[in-house]
Amino acid sequence: MTLPKTANAVIIGGGIQGCSIAYNLAKFGLRDVVVLEKGTVCSGSTGRCGAGIRAQWGTEMNCRFGLACVEKFEQLHEELGMDCGLNQGGYLLVAYQESEFEQLKKNMKLQNSLGIDTRVVSYDEAREICPGLSADDAVGFTYHARDGHADPFLTTYAYQEAAKRLGVVFHKFTECTDVKTLNGKVVGVSTNRGDIDTPVVVNAAGGYSQQVAKMAGVDLPIFSERHEIIITEPVEPGVCPPMLMSFSGNYYIQQRPHGSIIGGCSPEDHPEDYENGNSWDFLEKMSQTITKLLPRTKGIRAVRQWSGLYNMTPDRQPVMCEADNVKGFYLSVGYSGHGFMFGPVSGELLAQKILGQKPWIPIDQLHYSRFEKGELLIEPAVV
Ligand SMILES: Cc1cc2nc3c(=O)[nH]c(=O)nc-3n(C[C@H](O)[C@H](O)[C@H](O)COP(=O)(O)OP(=O)(O)OC[C@H]3O[C@@H](n4cnc5c(N)ncnc54)[C@H](O)[C@@H]3O)c2cc1C
Repeated sequence: MTLPKTANAVIIGGGIQGCSIAYNLAKFGLRDVVVLEKGTVCSGSTGRCGAGIRAQWGTEMNCRFGLACVEKFEQLHEELGMDCGLNQGGYLLVAYQESEFEQLKKNMKLQNSLGIDTRVVSYDEAREICPGLSADDAVGFTYHARDGHADPFLTTYAYQEAAKRLGVVFHKFTECTDVKTLNGKVVGVSTNRGDIDTPVVVNAAGGYSQQVAKMAGVDLPIFSERHEIIITEPVEPGVCPPMLMSFSGNYYIQQRPHGSIIGGCSPEDHPEDYENGNSWDFLEKMSQTITKLLPRTKGIRAVRQWSGLYNMTPDRQPVMCEADNVKGFYLSVGYSGHGFMFGPVSGELLAQKILGQKPWIPIDQLHYSRFEKGELLIEPAVV
C-alpha cells in the first residue's frame, strides 16, 4: 500500500494505545488518520502482556481510570463489534505483610468511596474464589469481582478493524525515522518508506517512545525495562479463575480459558533493557512461585516463555499530553505495567484532547512537567 503524502494525524505505534487513539479520533470524526507500525500490529508490549484489568488502585485518579476501564471492557464487544476475550474472574490481591495488608485495606476504602466493590476476604473465601490456591503464609486478601483479564490480540485487532471501517489506514513495516517540526509545530514525519506531511503526530511507540520523543526534540526521563512472562500447558479450568497478584510476593498469575497458566513478575533491580530475551533464572523462579501457590500445577510443563518492555516513568504513571514546545506533538507513553488495561479509555481521552474537546476524565496531571516540578503521582498499588 502506498504511503500517503499528507494526513490529518499520524500515529506512531500499532499497539493498544495507537490503535485505540486511531479508532477514537476517527469515531469523533477526524478523517485521514494514519497509523505507522515498524513491525506488525500488536508485535510490541501489547502482544506480550499479562492483559490484566483492574480497578483496585490506591490513588483516586487511578481508581477512576481503573473503574472506567473495567466498564469500558464490559461493553467493548458491542462498541467494536468483536469479542475481546474478557474474562471477569476478579483480581485476588494477596498480602504477605501486615503493613501491606493495611495498605490494601486503605486502598479498598478509597475504592469503595468511588463505587468500586472491593472487599476483604478470608483465606477460606479466597479458596472458594480460587479453588487451586495454597497461601497459608498470606496475612490477608482483597477481592474485586469485576476485575479480570482480556485477550490483548483480540482487543487490539478489534480496535484495528473498527478503525479501518472508519477509514483509518494502517501501514505495517513502516518505521518512523524522524518527526519534522517548524517554528515550534509538527509538520510531518519521515519513514523508511517516504514522508508524510501532517499537523498532528502521536507518539504511541511503547518501549521506544523516548527515542520517538527525541525525534521531535522532546527529552523525557523515561526508559524501558524487560519483563519476562511464562505460559504452561493446560490444567483443568477452574484452578485459578481470578488474577492472583501480590506486590510483596512479586507475581501476577492468571488462567487462560483453555486451562494454561500465565505468570509474570518484576525483575529485581529494574534494569534498562531493550532486548526481548529470556532467562533461566526467571523460568526457575516463576515455576516455583506458580507451583507453590497452585499446587495442582506441580509436574506440568512450561510451554513457552517470552518477554516485553515496560515503558517506565519516574512515578510509573503514564504521560498523556501535548508537548510543551512542539504544537501538534502528542504523547501517550510510559504506561509501565498497566498500559493494556488503560488503552481503551486513554485512547478516547487523548483523542478528545487532540480534537480540542474536554477529556471526560481529566488528564492534566499526566503532563511530563510533573517530573521536573517534583510532583510525582505516587501510586501504592503498582507493579
Ligand atoms: C510481561 C508484561 C506483562 C504486562 N502485563 C500487563 C497487564 O497485566 N495489564 C496491563 O494493563 N498491562 C500490562 N503490561 C503493560 C502493557 O503491555 C503496556 O503498557 C501496553 O501494551 C503499552 O501499549 P502501547 O501501545 O503503548 O505499546 P506497544 O504495544 O509496545 O506498541 C508500540 C508499538 O510501536 C511500534 N514502534 C515503536 N517505535 C516505532 C517507530 N519508530 N515507528 C513505527 N512504529 C514504532 C512498536 O513496534 C510497537 O508495536 C505488561 C507488559 C509486559 C511486558
